[in-house]
This record gives sequence, C-alpha cells and structure tokens, in this order.
Amino acid sequence: MNPNAFATLPLTATFLANLDSLGYREMTDIQTKSLPHVLDGRDLIAQAKTGSGKTAAFGIGILHKLNPAWFAVQGLVLCPTRELADQVANELRRLARGEGNIKVLTLTGGAPMRPQIASLEHGAHIVVGTPGRIRDHLGRGSIDLSKVQTLVLDEADRMTDMGFYDEIAGIVSACPSRRQTLLFSATYPDDIRRATELFLRNPVEVVVEAQH
Ligand code: ADP
Ligand code: MG
Repeated sequence: MNPNAFATLPLTATFLANLDSLGYREMTDIQTKSLPHVLDGRDLIAQAKTGSGKTAAFGIGILHKLNPAWFAVQGLVLCPTRELADQVANELRRLARGEGNIKVLTLTGGAPMRPQIASLEHGAHIVVGTPGRIRDHLGRGSIDLSKVQTLVLDEADRMTDMGFYDEIAGIVSACPSRRQTLLFSATYPDDIRRATELFLRNPVEVVVEAQH
C-alpha cells in the first residue's frame, strides 16, 4: 500500500471517507511522520513549515480519541492569534463531519467574555483559543480543563515569541498530568526547547526539512 495513504492509519471507514470528501487523497510529509505516533498516544514535537498540513496532524489525533457522548473539554488547542484559532477550529469542524455532533468552540481575545462563558456553559468537546483568553477563563472559573485528553501547542515558536509563556504554563498546570501533549512549530530553537520541554513527556520528535 502507498505509505502515505490515510488508510495505513487505524481510522474508521467513515473517517477515511470524510478525508476523501475533503480532497485529502494522501498524507503530507509531516502527517506521515507524525500521525502514527499521535494515534499511538505518544507526546510529540513536530517541526515543519507553514502550509505543510500540521492542523490535520493533530486534529485527527484529537478526534480519534474523542468521545462525542461525553460533553467535556477533551481537546485543547492553543494558538498565537485569533485568525489562526479560527482557521484551526474550521479545519477541526470539517475533519469532525460524520463523527457525530462534535462541538468546537473558539475562545480568543477581543471578543466579549460573556457570550464565551455562555457557550462554555452549554458545553464543548474541543476548545481552540489564545493563551491570554483561556487564562482569563481559568481565572474566572468559567472553563474546566480537568478532562483534557489532548493538549496541542500550535505555532509554539510564535506563541513563545509573543510572550505567552506564563499563560501557557498556567494553562498546562490546569490540565491533567495524564494527557497527550503535541507541540507543532515552524522552527524549534534551543530557547523554545528549554522553555517547553517540561510540558511534554518523553516526546517523539519529527522534522520535515524545508525544501530548497
Ligand atoms: P500548517 O498548519 O502546517 O501551516 P495547515 O494545516 O493549515 O498547514 O494546512 C494547509 C492547507 O493544506 C490547508 O488548506 C489544509 O486543508 C490542506 N491540507 C492539509 N492536509 C492535507 C492533505 N493531506 N491533503 C490535501 N490537503 C491538505
Ligand atoms: Mg498551522
């Protein structure tokens, strides 16, 4: 079989059919390198340039483990900006089609708190947001992260550059210590490595080198 075929992964026929309907004919390089470890439950550090398909590499992992019948925040994705959070949430919603009624909520700054609190009261399976705003919800007690199974730090280099480290550390400590943590980044310099390694447990590292 084609080693880049999604069908090499332990995914259901429904899930594979949905990927096909999204036009995902085969895995990108970072997906081929990451997804077997992600679906195996391992922590992961994945480095690949923008546009390489990192969202599906963690999105498929979150959805694979998610229980739609359990109305708790099981997946949490931290992104540096509102625009990126919206993009990730939209991709997750497309990937989740056919998996039942999966609620993906975005929580980002610049929007009023109260509607976000109301949405959290209604419940969500996956939250995608910026560190500052998620930290605000934690401080108010309006979000419960104690059921998070999969924590994703997306664009970890940019989040660190933007000074979100303390917020991220606070959010991580509100998640269960028994969880899967996935870190995605375009670059992974030593200072970010030192800052983030505490968040991960024995991670697999995968890199897709930029094409020259
Ligand atoms: P990154 O996070 O690495 O910058 P994205 O996850 O945003 O990249 O993906 C870039 C684009 O590629 C998106 O439009 C996404 O829908 C598309 N894409 C991702 N994986 C695949 C795939 N396996 N086949 C076809 N298109 C894909
Ligand atoms: Mg991305």
